Amino acid sequence: MQDRAQVLIIGGGIVGCSTAYHLAKSGCRDVLLVEKGELTSGSTWHAAGLVGQLRSSRNVTRMLKHSVELYESLEAETGQATGWKQVGGLRLACSEERMQELRKGATTARSFGLEMHMLSPQEALDLFPIMSPKDIIGGAFLPTDGYADPSSVTRALAKGARDGGVTIERGVRVEEFLLKDRRVTGVRTNQGDIEVETVLLAAG
Ligand SMILES: Cc1cc2nc3c(=O)[nH]c(=O)nc-3n(C[C@H](O)[C@H](O)[C@H](O)COP(=O)(O)OP(=O)(O)OC[C@H]3O[C@@H](n4cnc5c(N)ncnc54)[C@H](O)[C@@H]3O)c2cc1C
Repeated sequence: MQDRAQVLIIGGGIVGCSTAYHLAKSGCRDVLLVEKGELTSGSTWHAAGLVGQLRSSRNVTRMLKHSVELYESLEAETGQATGWKQVGGLRLACSEERMQELRKGATTARSFGLEMHMLSPQEALDLFPIMSPKDIIGGAFLPTDGYADPSSVTRALAKGARDGGVTIERGVRVEEFLLKDRRVTGVRTNQGDIEVETVLLAAG
């Protein structure tokens, strides 16, 4: 295993692999990702994979919009399946308070440039006919939401990162940070020390 890297990413879940992919895309060549087990063996493996873009934070929503755009092309780019299905996201209201929350959400969505339509109970039922319409007073639909297979997306990002020059080492556990003048200058692993300029902690 190499003993130095400009950027060291700790953790091979979706956050670590996505960061590696985007660093490679931005032209950063000396990137090493270490994962103590197998890629996507942490929380990422357990995730349901729902991709709902509307969040209270503008930046998180922007990131999720970027994710959706990326998932549309990642499979073709890497040849690795992602399981991305843009089926849309349905939100339901059974109380006036919840309906009000959805209306506010629709205003926020518009200001974020995200498509979101308010629905009558019948329109919600038309979209999801197997539910019981009892108590539903309305809903909202975000047509660009969807779901993906989190492990497959992570593997596709890892493939894209490797294609862009990132090195990924599995079975390497970081056990200690090495400090000089209160700055991290390296890590100690079960496979030896690695000297680094920047450490990115994506260990879950
Ligand atoms: C049941 C469940 C359902 C979920 N559903 C959704 C959903 O529908 N939609 C959604 O957006 N999110 C969902 N999430 C949340 C989502 O899974 C997490 O936000 C995401 O997977 C976090 O990714 P991560 O890369 O930060 O962490 P992880 O996937 O946990 O990756 C961290 C990696 O770091 C490695 N690691 C840890 N310590 C070290 C070390 N010392 N040295 C080297 N490697 C190390 C681990 O082995 C692991 O592989 C769900 C989570 C759970 C548990």
